Amino acid sequence: MALEQSFPDIRAAVAKLCAGFGGDYWRRLDGNRQYPTEFVRALTGAGYLSILIPEAYGGSGLPLGAACAVLEEIHRSGGNGGACHAQMYVMGTLLRHGSEQQKRRYLPAIAEGSLRLQAFGVTEPGSGTDTSRIRTTAVRDGDDYVVNGQKVFISRTEHSDLMVLLVRTSPRDESGKHTDGMSVLLVDLRDAIGNGLSIKPIDTMMNHATTELFFDELRVPVANLIGAEGQGFRCILDGMNAERILIAAECIGDARWFTAKSAGYAREREVFGRPIGQNQGVQFPIARAHIQTEAAALMVQEAANLYDAGRPAGAQANMAKLLASEAAWAAADTCVQTHGGYGFAAEYDVERKFRETRLYQVAPVSTNLILSFIANQELDLPRSF
Ligand SMILES: Cc1cc2nc3c(=O)[nH]c(=O)nc-3n(C[C@H](O)[C@H](O)[C@H](O)COP(=O)(O)OP(=O)(O)OC[C@H]3O[C@@H](n4cnc5c(N)ncnc54)[C@H](O)[C@@H]3O)c2cc1C
Repeated sequence: MALEQSFPDIRAAVAKLCAGFGGDYWRRLDGNRQYPTEFVRALTGAGYLSILIPEAYGGSGLPLGAACAVLEEIHRSGGNGGACHAQMYVMGTLLRHGSEQQKRRYLPAIAEGSLRLQAFGVTEPGSGTDTSRIRTTAVRDGDDYVVNGQKVFISRTEHSDLMVLLVRTSPRDESGKHTDGMSVLLVDLRDAIGNGLSIKPIDTMMNHATTELFFDELRVPVANLIGAEGQGFRCILDGMNAERILIAAECIGDARWFTAKSAGYAREREVFGRPIGQNQGVQFPIARAHIQTEAAALMVQEAANLYDAGRPAGAQANMAKLLASEAAWAAADTCVQTHGGYGFAAEYDVERKFRETRLYQVAPVSTNLILSFIANQELDLPRSF
């Protein structure tokens, strides 16, 4: 079944919820660089952000494909799931590697909406894409880890209660593999801010609530270590595949929004005494973007199916993310071109979505890193780094 038809009830319900948050809502927030608190509250209240939490802990226990349907619909409606998608993609790390005690402590509260897990801290200024070179350290001191270092582009930290944080617990050179010696800590931001953690917002091209983090002797209880010490990279890998698939679904939603918007405008806008969409020069790029999107959507579906079946999904997750982000960008560019001057006018929402969808070729993983992963892992070409 194509992604389009999967989870139709969820799609219809999410579309209905999103109809209450139209273009004027997102435009206003974009202009003021505000977090969509009301939207996130409505999604949480309707249970969509706890969709992946097992029923035993108060969630809906649905597969990743259902979470994809939610995020795709948000983007297809003209909104943006960036404000809240992390709660879905970090769930794999907590579910698969968290202890029973940790799950009982946090998941029911997250499911009922009294606790927000919206932040995921990996990227650092000095290491960038090369995660194994992160320099934020956590040193054991009694029942605590003491964290020092810096992170950059960590989103939603001002709108989350918890953060999944990747740190080094032993130096890179002293670890067997370069990806060994890292660990995952669950940081309670409510305790941390002002007690060893300071946050500085970063103004970006789109409204994304991203921040810079400074750790100075922050104490995190050892009880908040997720998985085994030194095995943190493995713990977040599962989450990274889920993240790529979920972001790819957002891209499909964007691409479908842009293409519907292009086709609608091309049918109605009359110049030279006929609809502009009657010209093949206008209709062909729209048709091409549509074809590109539907092909990418099949790969997103395939990746989600593999992930939900517990089978290796790394290659498909990466390919889905690359294809979907490029389809969204092609659809976005076509949409601006189809709208002519109006593509640049804020009230059409095209320029806002255009800026928003550009992110996905860079974050959460940039296109070059996907290409290098596929070249190396799937095609057995030598590693370039
Ligand atoms: C709005 C926003 C929100 C974000 N949110 C988060 C978040 O919540 N949590 C988080 O941890 N991170 C987050 N990020 C960070 C994001 O994941 C990184 O920006 C991204 O992974 C790239 O890292 P970098 O910016 O350091 O680029 P760099 O690593 O400096 O790379 C720069 C460019 O060089 C290319 N490049 C680097 N090395 C190679 C190579 N060996 N071969 C070929 N090309 C190469 C890259 O592909 C890229 O195009 C966010 C970023 C943005 C912009």
